[in-house]
Amino acid sequence: MPVGGKKQSPVVVELEEATVISKVSGREWDVSGAWNRMFQPRVLSDYSYSGGLGKVAQLDGGETLEYCYGCGKCVPVCPVDLVSEYGPRKIHRKVQTGLDLFASDELWMCTTCGNCLRVCPKGVNMIQIMPAVREVAVGDGKVPDELQGIFEKTFRYGNALGENPRRRHAWTKAAGVPVRVLGSDPTPVDVLFYVEDYWSYHPRGQQAAQAFARTMARVGVDFAILGAEEKTVGDSQRLAGEKGLFDALVEDVTSTLAKYEFNRIVTPDPHAFNALVKEYPKRGFTYDVLHYTQLLSPLIDRMNFVNPINKKVTFHDPCYLGRHNGEYDAPRKLLKAIPGLDLVEMGRCKENSYCCGGGGGGMWLDGFNSNHVSERLSERRVREAAGTGAEILAVCCPYEVSRFEDAAKSTGNEHLKVMDIAELLDEALGGSEGL
Ligand code: SF4
Ligand code: SF4
Repeated sequence: MPVGGKKQSPVVVELEEATVISKVSGREWDVSGAWNRMFQPRVLSDYSYSGGLGKVAQLDGGETLEYCYGCGKCVPVCPVDLVSEYGPRKIHRKVQTGLDLFASDELWMCTTCGNCLRVCPKGVNMIQIMPAVREVAVGDGKVPDELQGIFEKTFRYGNALGENPRRRHAWTKAAGVPVRVLGSDPTPVDVLFYVEDYWSYHPRGQQAAQAFARTMARVGVDFAILGAEEKTVGDSQRLAGEKGLFDALVEDVTSTLAKYEFNRIVTPDPHAFNALVKEYPKRGFTYDVLHYTQLLSPLIDRMNFVNPINKKVTFHDPCYLGRHNGEYDAPRKLLKAIPGLDLVEMGRCKENSYCCGGGGGGMWLDGFNSNHVSERLSERRVREAAGTGAEILAVCCPYEVSRFEDAAKSTGNEHLKVMDIAELLDEALGGSEGL
């Protein structure tokens, strides 16, 4: 693995010719070029199943690692491999030949982006393997310090930022529209706006939350929030291996939700969306859940745009909205509805979108992983976005504004503005004016 340097490709040895002997006819013929590699003997007995591979495969969720047959399809689509040496095939082979994944830094590099699973013919599922192995590592106390800090903050305060829960709805004061808090006014509501951590506390997230509240008010959505009662849904903590913390959060979140009457939950956070749609039902809690772009896209007819945005804009698909949950259209419909906006796609988009590096706990592991990558995934993505000639990189995941803004600075692409779709819509609808 390169340490902060360039990716190195192995030297491929090509024989001029190779002889193949048919076991049926006994005939011989020569095969030359790249095909030779298929006929070189492969050593299949240089590992012991009872070593690392058996240990992983025995875990609930770890079984599929042993299904790998080395076809290599997963490696070119793995976003981490583009900046390091990674991908399920490489992990499988290393574990097979002695790597102790439970104690390896490589355990924390997978962002659970899901792109390998999309192409793997054998269903090797890193979205299950990594959390299963991480859960054991967490139990053994082998956790990167910064991640341990996030787990502790989440446990103590109910949010990954370690902020005071009473300040969870401080952002509403400057929203410019009334935002109902259910604890103060518990009458039934149509839409429960589940704000999540980064829109509640991060300064750039708060701006997006305010913009979204204004847009909901403009298009006539009846909505309310939980305010200080809200805790994170905890999906990234689960994928980072803290299943016990996730289970405790499920209990807290669902007992708070049980206090109020609402029709639908709307969240800006694809990670929360993913957990509420896929994980909470496994534990007996099913809700009607929408990502905020899914709530707004059918309401475009109600939007009275007053400010055209005459800019070239490119859009980054969040892994947990797109690849994991199949929603590629709602964000694009909203962007295309904004007058003047010219949407240009990056080469890697939709199901093959690149990853910002924030999923599966990666949001909190940039420092830890920095020794193993030539650049951060967010930096790589910002360079792709800037390469389209776009002036704005549009996002719809609360992790991404801060990640990409930092990356735009560190790669010298400050001219590329990073904006949430909620902010772009709000600007086109007039912002705080005329409310
Ligand atoms: S695509 Fe699947 S089977 Fe092929 S090398 Fe990757 S993990 Fe193994
Ligand atoms: S889930 Fe994503 S980051 Fe993890 S191994 Fe697969 S492609 Fe790479």
